[in-house]
Amino acid sequence: MSKIAILGDIHSNLDALEVVLADCRAQGVTDYLCTGDVVGYNACPHECMEKIRELGCPVMMGNHDFYVCSEQNLDDFNPAAAMVVEWTRRQLTADEISWLRALPFTTTVKGVTLVHSTMDNPENFGYVFDNLQADANFVMQKTPLCFHGHTHCPMIYEKSMSGVYRIDPQDFRLQMGRKYFINVGSVGQPRDGDPRATYVIYDNMAKTIQYRRLEYDIPAAQARIRAAGLPDRLAERLQYGH
Ligand code: ZN
Repeated sequence: MSKIAILGDIHSNLDALEVVLADCRAQGVTDYLCTGDVVGYNACPHECMEKIRELGCPVMMGNHDFYVCSEQNLDDFNPAAAMVVEWTRRQLTADEISWLRALPFTTTVKGVTLVHSTMDNPENFGYVFDNLQADANFVMQKTPLCFHGHTHCPMIYEKSMSGVYRIDPQDFRLQMGRKYFINVGSVGQPRDGDPRATYVIYDNMAKTIQYRRLEYDIPAAQARIRAAGLPDRLAERLQYGH
């Protein structure tokens, strides 16, 4: 392995995913990892699952994936998100549902850990927005490097002898003897005020992290949401990136 793309929070946004996968090929990506939430919020669950499954890569269980493939009640979701979970349940085939059910909450691949939310109880899908929450993850993170998503906000957390530090997402070289918990942002519904699709390329020889931000056809994704009868505010938020 050398150039590894880490994709997450795709959320059924085919227009964003196609642009990201084309960029991966152009960048010479050799391997893929997925931090989960393939479905939810947008209108192309089949197409996105098909493209992710074609990659043949490890895919973690996201909270939307989990709720779509189970009968759990949706009290933890806001009404718009819950509506799309229910809509997605009706769209998927039995084979797609069983593929989702088999997704792991966390895995380690060649010394790199993957999780959707945090290693501090991955099945509860807690959010990491600050150093304290990142530190709870680091206690349970056994490898130097862990990729995650869930907040849809790209961010690097670093733990060294002197504590936990938050580093703005940027091109970055990993330092020996430190641990990193890296949020790869969201392909299909970015929320950091930048509406461009986001993913990360990790070069495991050079030990570098590169954030990729890509424009895609947002009006096309919005039109699909509206045509499917899904909540309009899910279409609107795509253009603002929140
Ligand atoms: Zn998500």
